Amino acid sequence: MAAVTVTFATIGGDVSAATTSFASAKTVLVLGEKAVLTAENALPLEALSLASDFAAPIVDGTTESITTYTGGKAVTIATFTEKRTRNQAPIRVDAIQDVVSKHAGKDGDAVIVLRVANEDQVLPAALAIARAFPHYVRKQKAANVRAIHVHIVVNNGCTATSTEHIQVLADAVRDAANIVDMPPNELNPTTYVDIVRALHKEKLEAKGVTLKVIQGTELRDGGFGGIWNVGKASENLPALVILSHTPADAKKSVALVGKGLTFDTGGLSIKVGGVMSNMKTDMGGSAGVLHGFVSAVLNGVNTNYALHAILCIAENSVDERSFRVDDIVTAYSGKTVEVMNTDAEGRLCLMDGVAYACKDLNVDVIVDMATLTGAQTFATGSKHAGFVSNNADFETVVYKAGKVSGDLAYPMVYCPEFHGVEKVMPSKVADMTNIPGAAERTNAPSAGAGLFVVSHMSPEEKWAEGGEGLWAHIDMAFPSAAAGRATGYGVGILYEIAKDLNKQFA
Ligand SMILES: [Zn+2]
Repeated sequence: MAAVTVTFATIGGDVSAATTSFASAKTVLVLGEKAVLTAENALPLEALSLASDFAAPIVDGTTESITTYTGGKAVTIATFTEKRTRNQAPIRVDAIQDVVSKHAGKDGDAVIVLRVANEDQVLPAALAIARAFPHYVRKQKAANVRAIHVHIVVNNGCTATSTEHIQVLADAVRDAANIVDMPPNELNPTTYVDIVRALHKEKLEAKGVTLKVIQGTELRDGGFGGIWNVGKASENLPALVILSHTPADAKKSVALVGKGLTFDTGGLSIKVGGVMSNMKTDMGGSAGVLHGFVSAVLNGVNTNYALHAILCIAENSVDERSFRVDDIVTAYSGKTVEVMNTDAEGRLCLMDGVAYACKDLNVDVIVDMATLTGAQTFATGSKHAGFVSNNADFETVVYKAGKVSGDLAYPMVYCPEFHGVEKVMPSKVADMTNIPGAAERTNAPSAGAGLFVVSHMSPEEKWAEGGEGLWAHIDMAFPSAAAGRATGYGVGILYEIAKDLNKQFA
């Protein structure tokens, strides 16, 4: 049982709906953009027994928050910035998370009343609030048990948003963040598979979702030379996990493929200079895929296509069994890869996951997601993931899904003739290497890593530009965590992509 529960009690109702839950709360936080909060009758001041001039400092613009203690509770009214350019979500999710983290109190029950102007702000705002209450903690003093009740009031009306659907998504974001926050001595390939099995039993089996696990030496024997070699040195052997949901009317199929490195030492190309710290988050892509899949299935998003989640789970360890620099591994695609650096292991796992999606599932769409490159932050920064796609329309779908959900993403250059494996990762002895040659390392390495992944997807023409396959590779190395905490990045953007595809395949 989580120490903190976050319940979306009402969405789109009047502010009076929120006031009924004030009595038991120790903390009340009312927040919104200033223009929204200072509108007439925007604040539940009467219900809180507060004078009507209580919020005057905010109206005057001299302070961003004001707190008072009344009837045994702390009441805070806070505004957050409305400043945003075109590459933002419809509301500042970063600012909402900051304000909620700061003012929602540390113990006792809390009520949060968020006022927004428009319905399109509800989803990203709700996910930002969810993100502000991480599950994971292992402090000696037991975490406080708290119930957080959230009410979102929408000034211009709310017709299409379901409170139940938002709750599913908010839970998925917190659950994804929880496994990313888990340390590697708790989350390893064995326990990760156990967690997926339990989740399948608890929530997915009744929805008709099937689970397949290819684990340990089965991977070696099955020809998964990438994921097997990366993970074989760990006492907890690697696994490829496939969750599938196939509605009766499915006309197409879609695979979400996630990198799940429960810990990345770098392998024999060991990470030095402190960069090994926080490598527990190297399974963030698979966490987003897993819980994006869960939320899509629970909310009934994929009625027109089969949806698969493929988790490439391994631990990149140092041991006498470790794969080596100079090794040539044979991928599930059949192609060979000369290992030049064992720390570029994520792509070696993903290449087998996407090849499985092509060869065994014959899917029409592949979205792979990973904490893949340190260079991602130079390409798109710490808040936007960077992604590449083989299709201009699908590129727009992914970009918009990022904005709509608040899981921001921005396109990186798709140009295989400049950054494809033949150009930047040629090998004298194998089909390719796993990192760019020295002369190419400043040449779009994050986009090039995506092109490495797509080079294992078959048939080649299907996944080239103009081919019938739709593909996107999302590198979310930096957005997956912030200030030492996982963000649950991936759930929102994959959910919105899944929704869009259902329209396309109608
Ligand atoms: Zn690595």
